[in-house]
Amino acid sequence: MTPPLAIEPASRLQKLPPYLFAEIDRKKRELVAKGKDVIDLGVGDPDIPTPDFIIRALQAAAENPRNHRYALDQGMPEFRQTIQEWFAKRFHVKLDPDKEILPLIGSKEGIGHLPLAIINPGQVCLIPDPGYPVYRSGTLFAEGIPYTMPLLEKNHFLPDLGAIPAEVLKSAKLMFLNYPNNPTSAVATREFFAEAVAFASKRGILIAHDAAYSEMTYDGQKSPSILEIPGAKDVAIELFSLSKTYSMTGWRVGFAVGHPQAISLLAKVKSNLDSGIFQAIQIAGIAALKEGDKALERNLKIYQERRDLLISGLNKLGFNVPLPKATFYCWIPVPPGYTSAELCLRFLEEMNIVVTPGNGFGPNGEGYFRISLTVAESRIMEALDRIKKSHKTK
Ligand SMILES: *Cc1c(COP(=O)(O)O)cnc(C)c1O
Repeated sequence: MTPPLAIEPASRLQKLPPYLFAEIDRKKRELVAKGKDVIDLGVGDPDIPTPDFIIRALQAAAENPRNHRYALDQGMPEFRQTIQEWFAKRFHVKLDPDKEILPLIGSKEGIGHLPLAIINPGQVCLIPDPGYPVYRSGTLFAEGIPYTMPLLEKNHFLPDLGAIPAEVLKSAKLMFLNYPNNPTSAVATREFFAEAVAFASKRGILIAHDAAYSEMTYDGQKSPSILEIPGAKDVAIELFSLSKTYSMTGWRVGFAVGHPQAISLLAKVKSNLDSGIFQAIQIAGIAALKEGDKALERNLKIYQERRDLLISGLNKLGFNVPLPKATFYCWIPVPPGYTSAELCLRFLEEMNIVVTPGNGFGPNGEGYFRISLTVAESRIMEALDRIKKSHKTK
């Protein structure tokens, strides 16, 4: 018998950074297998279920054979129309539903495919560090060169655009931004977006603003769209997601809006790779965008209460953490004497609590760890209790 073919992985796969959370995942599974009560504050995935009315919209649409066939690549006209209405109401920006709106199989899909549409081998893509890992992998798949823009606390976790070398800018085609930000929970002001738009248009760089957490803000604040900036549509697209907003991570639905040519190039890549979004899910997406405000408000209140509980508890224990203004993440400085990885290992082994090491999001995440607010208050209280006990025995 001949042995199975040994495959040398394609070099683009070998260029991907190692998965830093693998060791934590393994240790977590080990502890769970031993019967330990592990509190997982690591995952960025809502524990609150999808609202009932969205599930019912999916159920009804799934019963209709009209929805069983291939969907249009560019999405259902009704879905694009609804996105237009939602966008106009939320941001007071008018979009052309035929040219400036493209439904996505989750925003990750759009982020991953965009560089294939925009970047030639050897061209630069500017990515935030720390940042969502797909900006880098999407760039590497397109054989582009990722150039990291550090997000530093002293700059409110906004990139210092003036610090990017002219040399790099010469071959830069694309820049990813992400506000409200994962993992730092920072928000961007309209002033920053205006600066980014002016910067990008002067240098011929397309901005892709990842707005996956656009609706996840607290204390009565609202996050702006980059498309609110006059002229932004000439230089930017923005990616939205229903995942976090309506607890729909598993459903895979989002959309891109803005710069019409970039939208059509992304649509061209997609039409060669996927065949649209299951229509029943688009119909459920219409329900979410049209009627989801109340459910969103209810969920934000839940996250906000968890946030207040966690942050006040941590600060009583001697941490010094400001209240995050957005997202369901807390981005917390690691106490002196530990690296991010060492602290996370201690949390896991001593307290059976999973938190995410900041360096998993890029070198500039070193010195921080991320806690997700995606567990019930009782679990947050239990976690605080374990941290307090571990403090005492130190
Ligand atoms: C969760 C997340 C996404 C992906 O969202 P989907 O629409 O579920 O693909 C994109 N960007 C950031 C920063 C995220 O945290």
